[in-house]
Amino acid sequence: MSARKLVHAAAPEATVLIREAHVLEPRTGIDEARDVLIRGGEIAELGPPGTLDAPDGAEVVEAAGRHLFPAFVDPHVHLRTPGQEHKEDLETGTRAAAAGGFGAVLAMPNTDPVVDSAPILRSLRDAAHLHARVPVGFVAAITRGLRGDELTEMAELREEGAVGFTDDGKPVVSAGMLRKALQYQRLCGGVLALHEEDPSLSGPGAMHEGEISALLGVAGIPSVSESTMIARDAQLAGYEDGRIHIQHLSAAASVEAVALAKERGVRISAEASPHHLCLTHEAVRTLDTRMKMNPPLRTEEDRQALIEGLRSGVIDCVATDHAPHARDEKEVPFEQAPMGTTGLETSFAALHTELVLPGVLPLDLVVRRLGDGAALFDLPTPRIAPGEPANVTLVDLDAEWVVGDGGYESRSANCCFDGRTLRGRVLLTVAAGAVAFRARQFEVVG
Ligand SMILES: [Zn+2]
Ligand SMILES: [Zn+2]
Repeated sequence: MSARKLVHAAAPEATVLIREAHVLEPRTGIDEARDVLIRGGEIAELGPPGTLDAPDGAEVVEAAGRHLFPAFVDPHVHLRTPGQEHKEDLETGTRAAAAGGFGAVLAMPNTDPVVDSAPILRSLRDAAHLHARVPVGFVAAITRGLRGDELTEMAELREEGAVGFTDDGKPVVSAGMLRKALQYQRLCGGVLALHEEDPSLSGPGAMHEGEISALLGVAGIPSVSESTMIARDAQLAGYEDGRIHIQHLSAAASVEAVALAKERGVRISAEASPHHLCLTHEAVRTLDTRMKMNPPLRTEEDRQALIEGLRSGVIDCVATDHAPHARDEKEVPFEQAPMGTTGLETSFAALHTELVLPGVLPLDLVVRRLGDGAALFDLPTPRIAPGEPANVTLVDLDAEWVVGDGGYESRSANCCFDGRTLRGRVLLTVAAGAVAFRARQFEVVG
């Protein structure tokens, strides 16, 4: 019903035989070698390894030893269009998504102008029809100009295809304003995605408030800035029977707040980012501006709580919060640098290297949580099953690579994993039935 809300550029329907890949489809439990035939943009057939024949004109991908996953879905990216195309645009952002194994992404509205009216949303969707390499959904603003004092025309934005609403980059500071948004949501649908931060607590903070910020003399953002707002908004959502999604959880107290709300039956979901799952404020000791993001990297205890939340399902999905910035914008003193890290191209490899290989989380759980964001926004979840639209990603789990070597598909290079050696590389992504990415060194025969 709502697939119409995602848009992408027209591309030829793929006809590809992927031979002898190890198919891992966590939702149906397939975890073994299979031939997978994609024909006319659909998954046509799955067969035992070496049994399927390539139809005329098909590409054949010899994939023995490689893993085939359902394509990932990222419910939180910044594509910087319109207005900040020097950081990213629809083409480069969705190319980065495809390179990371994503078959769909949801773009945030904190652009210039803000996506707060139907004409702006319509023109963006028209542009995505021309330039997006993977399907993109647009999340519209909750308040006009993200100013927090006047609601957008939510019903009209829904009609125009908004998959949900958010003031991301900023919290909805006024409880009364969020209450009103929840009341409108009852009429027009669409999840409210919330960036949780109490500005009276976060103030001018540039990193996590703790022993390292004290040592460095940098103003801190306490974890209660996030967790107290989550507690407030969960109560409001419960009171109005609204549906909220908490963006980029960073703190143990926040995981507790979400868990409590879920226990009480509040319609709430939550996401965590690869950087918060893999890194801590220790990484900020050198004042590397690539480690500056909002919410900030926090303590090891917080990181462990996020991992546990992802395992238990209190945290529903992974979202990258891909936030590109130009080099000269980040090459300034730490306190002046803008918040944000790119993440689309490194998300799977970072989680695989830091959490799966050391035995912290199982591979199938990570693959599942990289796709579970779709259903939270009432979008179809990619599945490897006959008759489904082809949304798959082929990964070499053994491939080691140095992040940033050979550049990025994104227009920006502000990646917190830059320079790290990661294991696991996306070789091929098929999104909405078309080949959206093919690694340069990856040869296709036939
Ligand atoms: Zn945010
Ligand atoms: Zn964001």
